[in-house]
Amino acid sequence: MAFQTAQEHVDALLLQIKPFDYDLYLNQRVETIEEVDHAKDIYWKVTTNENNSFISKNIFIAAGAGSFEARRPPNIENPDKFLNIGVNYAVRSKDKYKNKDIFIFGGGDSALDWTVELAKNAKSLSLVHRRDAFRGAPHTEELMRELVKDKKINLLTPFVIEDIHGEEKVNEVSLKNFDTKEIVTHKADELIFLFGLNKKLGPILDWELELNNKKINVNTESFETSKEGIFAVGDINDYPGKLDLILSGFHETTLAVQKAYKRIHPGERVPFGYTTSNSKLQKKLGVLDK
Ligand SMILES: Cc1cc2nc3c(=O)[nH]c(=O)nc-3n(C[C@H](O)[C@H](O)[C@H](O)COP(=O)(O)OP(=O)(O)OC[C@H]3O[C@@H](n4cnc5c(N)ncnc54)[C@H](O)[C@@H]3O)c2cc1C
Repeated sequence: MAFQTAQEHVDALLLQIKPFDYDLYLNQRVETIEEVDHAKDIYWKVTTNENNSFISKNIFIAAGAGSFEARRPPNIENPDKFLNIGVNYAVRSKDKYKNKDIFIFGGGDSALDWTVELAKNAKSLSLVHRRDAFRGAPHTEELMRELVKDKKINLLTPFVIEDIHGEEKVNEVSLKNFDTKEIVTHKADELIFLFGLNKKLGPILDWELELNNKKINVNTESFETSKEGIFAVGDINDYPGKLDLILSGFHETTLAVQKAYKRIHPGERVPFGYTTSNSKLQKKLGVLDK
């Protein structure tokens, strides 16, 4: 394929794994990995921050650069009490913002991009920033300023958030003028804070794996870490010559699976087949009739 966006790539991969039996647990963080007492072999227990636990002989860590957490507005106590009911740190679905009074906070690319995009279907949209200078792409800033000129959006500078009001959901937002300290309150349905991300390796640091400069050391034969049955693939791992590419992650995972399979089926040959010629695989993937 000559060109594919990241979303198209993800969609294509989801389609490819559709015939396989798997469970997905999204929007939760793996907090602990512990060895499970077992007479014969090494097993691992993975527990997430939602208290889901899984016991497995093999674990693949594909944690990229670790956990990213959206920066919260620093002066608001517990803004997450309105999480998804008027407060968000990312736009997951544009539909949610149709015909709403929206306030976007931030001065970078994300704030500008979403201002231009969500303005198309919003009831009203205000972009709030502490100064009248932006760090985003000049072209997007130009588009945003044209929308201001055409009275399609409000640009509120120099303003910062002062308070969020609401019971069941957000109803109003108070903003403070950075220069005059004057406080104004507006009717609001949705507040989107786009202050960037805090990059943290997170709980991986506690899993007692051999690390090198915030990456997990692996051997390049099996992409196993310093602990048996725990593999690290993709950007999170480190070895001589490592390149952070999607292609590298696929290669590493393919080799790691060989060792993981042998741990589950000791003494058995690892099945190997090309999708070009293996009819069993073709049938499973649904490509036989195409
Ligand atoms: C701007 C940019 C452009 C790029 N373009 C290309 C390109 O054109 N072609 C190419 O091949 N590569 C490209 N890359 C590189 C490519 O994006 C990465 O190599 C690839 O995304 C790595 O995939 P990954 O699964 O290892 O990590 P990621 O895609 O970073 O995914 C890791 C995931 O693990 C999650 N996570 C972390 N810790 C935990 C935890 N404790 N519990 C649960 N989840 C956790 C993270 O939140 C994240 O969702 C680009 C990278 C950048 C930054």
